[in-house]
Amino acid sequence: MKPAAFAYAKARSLEDAIRLIGAHKGEAKLLAGGQSLIATLNMRLSQPSLLIDINDIAGLAGIRVAGGMVEIGALTRHVTLERSSDIAKHAPLIARAMPHIAHPAIRNRGTVGGSLAYADPAAELPACLVALDGEIDIVGPGGQRSVKADDFFKGLFETALGPGDVLTAVRFPTATAQTRVGFAELARRHGDYAMVGLAATAKANGKGLADPRLVYFGVGATPIRTRGAEAALARGDIDAAVQALDLDPPDDIQATGAVKKHLAGVLLRRVAAQLMDDA
Ligand code: FAD
Repeated sequence: MKPAAFAYAKARSLEDAIRLIGAHKGEAKLLAGGQSLIATLNMRLSQPSLLIDINDIAGLAGIRVAGGMVEIGALTRHVTLERSSDIAKHAPLIARAMPHIAHPAIRNRGTVGGSLAYADPAAELPACLVALDGEIDIVGPGGQRSVKADDFFKGLFETALGPGDVLTAVRFPTATAQTRVGFAELARRHGDYAMVGLAATAKANGKGLADPRLVYFGVGATPIRTRGAEAALARGDIDAAVQALDLDPPDDIQATGAVKKHLAGVLLRRVAAQLMDDA
């Protein structure tokens, strides 16, 4: 199918983008990498009257490491993260997740901001950002604000972004010598959206783990933290962690909810082994 007709505007600055969205209330969509948006237009799931291209806005792309934090600009492409030595060193969870995101052609164009704003429930980066206890910077008609990743994902393809908002950057603490990360997903083919996935962080604590954050994707409307399993894992009891998985995945075209729940347990054992490997 072809998309419905739309107009196109190139924003020269954040202010320009916000002004354009405001002038076309509810009718405009931001265009970043276009890897999800163009597909929804082609399927006529979305019919905006205006696309506002944000690709030329200076300062929206890039990786900065300073003051114990990693900051990634919204327009940073997946491929940039994948190849970044800063990400490999300071954000090893993201580095592990990147090769699972789609295919090289999509990673060449897709952006961090687009992935988080689109909020596909089976996407990797939203779950990673929750596992990293990250924050999301947003600029909108009311000014600038930051939202914890824990509070950003509200429902199926629904986030804390308002209609006039632009996601500008994400931020999370740099990895330290105590940081442990784990990542695993199951997909029908490598690069497909996950059937079930798990992103995790923890701190080494002697021979055990402290403060584990276990965040599933592909098992509900948003990334899902499993606090009962986290508590059991902090006690070093992996069997109890699997038993405590309070997930209720719906059936979808990939698998039944029961199969997904079983796979969630399988992934938890794999990720726990990664977390404990060098704890
Ligand atoms: P766009 O498509 O340009 O935009 C997506 C949405 O976000 C639009 O509504 C847009 O208005 C909004 N938006 C974009 N940027 C901003 C911003 N800065 N502020 C506010 N709103 C904004 N992703 C995965 O995570 N895992 C996968 O396995 C995966 N597989 C894929 C397979 C295929 C075949 C395809 C086509 C895509 C796949 N993707 C996957 C999606 C890919 O990662 C996209 O790049 C990503 O979801 C959207 O990023 P984008 O920059 O292309 O955003």
